Amino acid sequence: MHLAFISLFLYFERRIMIKTVKRTYRFRIYPNPSQKELIEKTLGCCCQVYNDFLSMCIESHEADKNYSIKKYDLIKLLPEYKETFPYLKEVDSIALQQTVIHLYDAYVNFFRHNAEFPKFKKKKNDYGYTTMNIKNSIRFVADDIQIPKVGRVKVKAHRHLPESFKFTMVSVSRSGKYYYVSLLGEEEYFDYGEYIKESLDPNNSIGLDFSLKHLFVDSNGNHLDMPTYYQDSLTKLAKEQRKLSHMKKNSSHYQKQLLRVKNLHEHIANQRKDFLHKASRKLANTYDYVFVENLDLKEMSERRDKLKLGISIFDLGYGTFLNYLKYKLEWLNKKLVKVDKFFPSSQLCSCCNYRKSSLTLNQRSWTCPICGFKHDRDYNAAINIKKEGIRMILNPSN
Ligand SMILES: [Zn+2]
Repeated sequence: MHLAFISLFLYFERRIMIKTVKRTYRFRIYPNPSQKELIEKTLGCCCQVYNDFLSMCIESHEADKNYSIKKYDLIKLLPEYKETFPYLKEVDSIALQQTVIHLYDAYVNFFRHNAEFPKFKKKKNDYGYTTMNIKNSIRFVADDIQIPKVGRVKVKAHRHLPESFKFTMVSVSRSGKYYYVSLLGEEEYFDYGEYIKESLDPNNSIGLDFSLKHLFVDSNGNHLDMPTYYQDSLTKLAKEQRKLSHMKKNSSHYQKQLLRVKNLHEHIANQRKDFLHKASRKLANTYDYVFVENLDLKEMSERRDKLKLGISIFDLGYGTFLNYLKYKLEWLNKKLVKVDKFFPSSQLCSCCNYRKSSLTLNQRSWTCPICGFKHDRDYNAAINIKKEGIRMILNPSN
């Protein structure tokens, strides 16, 4: 009864500790030809403003070395400047203002922090412009996103924004042939603060054994595989790449096919990320500790080539998965713990601790000669990783 009361108290205390974290969400957008033209025009205008204002800063500094430019003096020059180049009035005025502010920051940083002197921008390069979300001027409408001046642009929202996410700045950018919109803002998360030690339970944990066949096998005997739709995409990519290799280089068919292959690559990368995000989120929400082996992925990849294991751990995204898992756990003040890479997780019997040193890499299962338990190699290893992880938490000195 008393314990229940304490945990209820802790629960409410925790609820109060909501912190905010800065986040950026980036989505690909599909502007139509006239929208594309306007975006390009805005990028061009911002480039011009940046370069001309940078020249002005340099000139005024050369004229009077003691004069330091003020941000609002620079911004105040904009209306007059626009009169000289009336076409500037056709693009998002906030974007031009933000360009001046960026330039001012870069220029001042040079003097204050010995940062690099701002470079003149080139129109050809990939870059973006920033505008502001004022009174919901930027918002999602069905499958589109409303952008000031540009209007409703088709957007590929591959993930839902968290309800607590609020954004003020939005940047529209071009990278190669693709256009993107990035929403910069803040979202809330629960901070468990000073209750970390009391609230983390080593027994509410899971061990993961990296497996060549699956993404991982866990200490509950479950395994996770990359989804079949991902495998299907890989098959499709191989097919399209084969087609490409038979085409005459630089012909129009070749260019079209090249674009198709590039798009498919990006699609696959997004599918993989999406899957790994969901899988890591699930573990982070469920467990206080996740125990894994401290694998040297680079070394393993080299060893894979030698052993001709034929499948890359990078293809399976295990490294990315661990990164996602680590920061998702950290957000909840939980922990990813790596056990020593020399810990013999596969060789130990998880029932009686007998060590079978003669176990080879190809042996997928083995029977313990002492207790007679028949082990699946990966499942047994995952249990040992969990046991070792709990031991490390409870006896950190040993
Ligand atoms: Zn045994």
